Amino acid sequence: MPKEEINNLALRRTLYFPSGEIYASAPSGFWEFGPIGEAIRRKIVAVWRKELVEREGMIEIGGSQILPEDVFKASGHLESFNDPIVQCKKCHSLFRADKLIAEKVDGIVPESLATTELDKLIDEHKVQCPKCRGKNFEEVRKFNMMMGLQIGATGDQPAYLRPETCQSIFCDFRRLYKSSRQELPLGIAQAGKSFRNEIAPRNTLLRQREFGQMEIEVFFNPDKINDVAHFEDVKDYKLNLMLLKTGKLGKVSCSDAAKKKIVSGKLVAYYLARVQQLYEKLGIPLEKMRFRELDNDERAFYAKETWDFEVETDLGWVELMACNHRTDYDLKGHAKQSKQDLSVTEEGKKFVPHIFELSAGIDRAFYVILDLSFRKEKRGKEERIYLKLPAAIAPYLSGVFPLVKKDGLLEKAEEIAQTLREHQFDVFFDEKGSIGKRYARVDEIGVPYAITVDYDTMKDSTVTLRERDSMDQKRIAIEKLPETLWLLSLEKKTFKEL
Ligand code: ATP
Repeated sequence: MPKEEINNLALRRTLYFPSGEIYASAPSGFWEFGPIGEAIRRKIVAVWRKELVEREGMIEIGGSQILPEDVFKASGHLESFNDPIVQCKKCHSLFRADKLIAEKVDGIVPESLATTELDKLIDEHKVQCPKCRGKNFEEVRKFNMMMGLQIGATGDQPAYLRPETCQSIFCDFRRLYKSSRQELPLGIAQAGKSFRNEIAPRNTLLRQREFGQMEIEVFFNPDKINDVAHFEDVKDYKLNLMLLKTGKLGKVSCSDAAKKKIVSGKLVAYYLARVQQLYEKLGIPLEKMRFRELDNDERAFYAKETWDFEVETDLGWVELMACNHRTDYDLKGHAKQSKQDLSVTEEGKKFVPHIFELSAGIDRAFYVILDLSFRKEKRGKEERIYLKLPAAIAPYLSGVFPLVKKDGLLEKAEEIAQTLREHQFDVFFDEKGSIGKRYARVDEIGVPYAITVDYDTMKDSTVTLRERDSMDQKRIAIEKLPETLWLLSLEKKTFKEL
């Protein structure tokens, strides 16, 4: 769906809006989430937690957003977390050089190309300034995206806002390993905010300066990369892989991917399968997803193998998750800088664990899900908008509406809503406006069901249950509501089967 439609909905229903918007001085790239947006966002994280973290027996931490300079010396971010930037000589606007060229050539330009190479490409392709159409640029230079700050009154303790959530996981590894089963593989997860001084924040949630990430670091023994406990579960499962060699998208089973060394081992294939399944649960159709294999000069400085999980949207393919084989780069770097031993001993052998990382953006997932679930349909003269969200990430599972406020209907509806809340369902109560308007209001924010209390309810203790997508309605006994909603929300029954 065009981004204008999505942003209109976002502003109309306060899903998200610019931070500090009452001030003209507010910088771009910062966004607030309103009650409905935050509910959807929270649920995306909850599904990730259930489907990956908990199901795979991982542990989750909550680390600090501010970390000392030493962490980023060790991680390589101070030296290498740079974007190439270029400035228009005429209007002085700044751009990401690689993205500017990529737009012109309609392809991918690796950000790690030497600045001189990028200068050459700008010349060769006669790139123009998108703002003023100017044809002359300053030389491309590297810009470090870390956001720095000083700690304490004397300001002599340099620190940084984390540019990714994973660095505290690496720093905490030894303690967490010791306090867990002391066994590899060990998956450690974290969801929270990250900060990057992006040069050109754009497309609302897709490129922000403060954004949500949900990251998983799987620490493993490199000699056992093919020793994966539940590999059998996924061996025939097909991954959508776009290989560097062919540049084409194809379906490859996990066992073939490992056997033919398309990925570096079964562990990688296993987690790619889990990732694909996770995004299916989040409502993204299989045919819109791919793992794109990254070339040497497109990969982050710490990775030896990267599969970007991308989804096709109205804005083209968008990266939602980077799946990085980070080797022992991180633990070795932190061991050297901190002078601490971060190795483990397994079966008499001492080694530094390797890491496979699943680094996902929360807000990017949120935006992409909005893009793919947005439906606008003509029904006669009327236009209907609804979000086809899976129940698991809908802001509420059901609306509860009294047809009118009088004759005890309001009280009855309140009683039903309360009972459903006691059963841990998220319900939205609304008694204002025509019933049609109330349906439209919940459709638009993706609430999958609506319960209406009418005069028959007072006679026979039944309600109308309406399904968002089909708009079909069924009569259901009040006492059956919790069980019915439970079956529907877990997709154990379809609405038709009720
Ligand atoms: P890009 O190439 O788009 O700048 P990246 O490769 O630098 O992204 P990673 O460092 O791999 O991104 O970060 C992991 C995930 O975090 C991304 O897949 C994305 O979902 C999310 N992410 C990264 N940068 C941003 C941002 N500026 N705004 C929103 N989400 C982001």
